[in-house]
Amino acid sequence: MSSFSMLRAEIAGIPVLELARRFGTPTFVYDASMIRRRVDDLRRFDTVRYAVKACSNLAVLALLRRAGALVDTVSAFEIRRALAAGYQPAGDVPPIVYTADIFDHDSLELVVERGIHVNCGSPDMIHQYGDRAPGRNITLRVNPGFGHGHSRKTNTGGPQSKHGIWHEQLCDCLAAAQRHDLNVTGLHMHIGSGTDMEHLAQVCGAIEKAALEAGPEIRSISVGGGLPIAYRETDTTVDLGAYFGLCDAMRKRLEEALGHAVALEIEPGRYLVAESGFLVAEIRAVKHQADNLFYLVDAGFNNLARPVLYGSYHPISIAPADGDMTRPEVEAIVGGPLCESGDIFTQEEGGIVAKRRLPRAAVGDLLVIERTGAYGAVMGSNYNSKPLAAEILIDGGTPHLVRRRQTFEELTADESIPG
Ligand SMILES: *Cc1c(COP(=O)(O)O)cnc(C)c1O
Repeated sequence: MSSFSMLRAEIAGIPVLELARRFGTPTFVYDASMIRRRVDDLRRFDTVRYAVKACSNLAVLALLRRAGALVDTVSAFEIRRALAAGYQPAGDVPPIVYTADIFDHDSLELVVERGIHVNCGSPDMIHQYGDRAPGRNITLRVNPGFGHGHSRKTNTGGPQSKHGIWHEQLCDCLAAAQRHDLNVTGLHMHIGSGTDMEHLAQVCGAIEKAALEAGPEIRSISVGGGLPIAYRETDTTVDLGAYFGLCDAMRKRLEEALGHAVALEIEPGRYLVAESGFLVAEIRAVKHQADNLFYLVDAGFNNLARPVLYGSYHPISIAPADGDMTRPEVEAIVGGPLCESGDIFTQEEGGIVAKRRLPRAAVGDLLVIERTGAYGAVMGSNYNSKPLAAEILIDGGTPHLVRRRQTFEELTADESIPG
């Protein structure tokens, strides 16, 4: 079976039908071995720092911790997730980094109290942190003045981006850090998702220039995340050897110039978890409307928002309820249960509904939306009062329930009726 086959009998060795029977639908299923393989791909970097926001389930974090990855967090509760998954708050190489453009009151309190390393993306963060925790090390996230992203919404560099310290203000920020007795020990750039080699070369050039400006205290460089994965058969992936080579050459030039070792970090989210994830849904209606054939499933954009947010493409496969793996192909549109016309998984950017060649299917067949491990479950919502999906981690041939499906009581637990 090719990895893009449109009929799927199993996930990580477990029949899809059995997973649906045991755990219900919609359910996210993660393949632990795929996550480990992706960490292994990046061993040449001194630090692989996982961007927790891509998939923050505690079991996934614990798996990544055991696989040797450290974490990058963007909120107080992401820090608490990392702690709950067994990460130490501080260490020689910080196990947990907080990267953001602001501190809300909770995150400032938490990083000060627990000694979490901070990667500052705005001058105000330097002032606020310096007031509370003088003497600490910080890193600076620099916006190099250009960016890249698979969609305008994921572009995280350039003048239109809110992220990072504007490159022309680096000098002022270094001075501000010094006034607050904060040591700037590293620089960081994350310019967006879907980075290619040409952009990486630009990033390396910009980091090198910034590091020489920042001077001899720089001990670590993070080239950020953004490593792409193939969502379509025709998508090209990045040559990791060449990717590392570019970064390593820049690091070596810096070591030469600064006269000491400089550690190289990479900070992927999507790359580590996207391919491990499968959203398993059940087809509950098959409708013909004029020339269109609709497969309507019990998962919607409350479970997977990437198609409606970015027009993202995900491979889709069918697990036939009768086990018949010889279904002819038809063109179908796949939609969910929400009272919203945008609740379509087969749409392009701008909300254009697209047909997809898929096996002929019937009510009761399972439909699997693939490569949904990154920015899938974490973007889930309770829209239409739908419970958050269950999550399963398959490890060593055993499916573990790592998130129960939400109940009505949990969904309404924080609400109250006055009077
Ligand atoms: C989102 C994010 C990442 C990960 O991006 P991917 O495209 O998932 O690799 C890394 N670093 C920071 C600061 C981020 O905000």
